[in-house]
Amino acid sequence: MNALRNSIRLIAALALPALILSLKPNPARAESASRPSPQETLVVESQVTHEFGKSISFTAKIHSPAPIQSASLLFRAVDEEATRVETLQVAADGSTAFVYDASLNVFSPFSEIVYWYQATLDDGQTHTSEPRTYSYTDNRFPWRDASQGLVSAHWYAGDDAFGAAALDSAGAGLSAMKDIIPVSLAEPVHIYIYSNVNDLNATFSLGGRDWAGGHAHADLGVILVAVPPGSGQALVMDSIIPHELAHVMMYRALGDSYYDQPVWLVEGLASMVERYPNPDYARALEIASVNGTLIPFGDLCASFPADSGSAFLAYAQSQSFVSYIRDSFGVSGLSRLAATYSDGFDCDLGATKALGSSLSQLEARWREAALGMNRGGVAFRNLLPFLLLLFIVLIVPIWGAVDVIRQRRRRAAKAR
Ligand SMILES: [Zn+2]
Repeated sequence: MNALRNSIRLIAALALPALILSLKPNPARAESASRPSPQETLVVESQVTHEFGKSISFTAKIHSPAPIQSASLLFRAVDEEATRVETLQVAADGSTAFVYDASLNVFSPFSEIVYWYQATLDDGQTHTSEPRTYSYTDNRFPWRDASQGLVSAHWYAGDDAFGAAALDSAGAGLSAMKDIIPVSLAEPVHIYIYSNVNDLNATFSLGGRDWAGGHAHADLGVILVAVPPGSGQALVMDSIIPHELAHVMMYRALGDSYYDQPVWLVEGLASMVERYPNPDYARALEIASVNGTLIPFGDLCASFPADSGSAFLAYAQSQSFVSYIRDSFGVSGLSRLAATYSDGFDCDLGATKALGSSLSQLEARWREAALGMNRGGVAFRNLLPFLLLLFIVLIVPIWGAVDVIRQRRRRAAKAR
């Protein structure tokens, strides 16, 4: 677990300066800052423990230079805007305890929680402690870990070879995406492998989110996947781990504008680096194109459908559509597209600006090229150059020959 602890410490160390910068001054701080006396930092000995999905216990001993009038605990997840403020009961010796009900799963597994204390003393001044971070791990399972560079795999079912196989899948994924998505390993990536979908989904279901087989907490560099150990493990790992890694790398390449990208583009790119393309995607596309139930890409910009059947089709379409864009416009076309969406262009205008065709025009061409829809039109357009050539090579000489024959006949008639 040393590697895990070190990595978490590293994440905390990397996250902390940013956190401190992003902490918004609270009213109490602003008020005391305007007073002549400098504000002192509150000295707090604190400890946090948790039972994943149940509770988070904050205990502390506040050392204050004067009696405490009131005290509070403030905390939030690193990526949250809103801060929770809890009023504390403080004993005469400064000790205090607060238990937060974590049963609603508002904190994602392996997210970082930043917390600090505030106390108003008898002199009326409010003092604030230094912020600290705490890793909210899914401690329901005895995680084992293995690392390769800054990529770590964590699992609780399966043997050593299972962990090694996960790292292999990660390595294969990183090399597959090199040409499409810039790979950045300046910060660690953690892959948590649950042994079944139920264990994984239990981490989210109470929070109202429903994940299929994997999820990436892209900004934290945390990937959660479900891979049952056994004969089929390699196939699942080789699809799901590269896919979720791609999400992390896209976030690292694009920063917060990752969230401005159309979902079809992000999911299409991630699906393209899966080692074995899902064999059922082609079948889903075929059925939908025959039945006329393909989803317009304009409807896949902000989110994917909630029902699993339509979501599966959305992944299949996105994978095929983004591959088509790469084949037609190259990787530079894909980069241009992502950069344009990062600039804030909407789903349709972004395509026009980056690729010279609107999203619906691209979609129509994709339907023709990838799915063979409007086959007659495509066939005619593809044959057009040859038909022209045929006209020049055959028809023009024939017409010329006919002309020559006519002239001869005319001459013969005159001679008669
Ligand atoms: Zn995805």
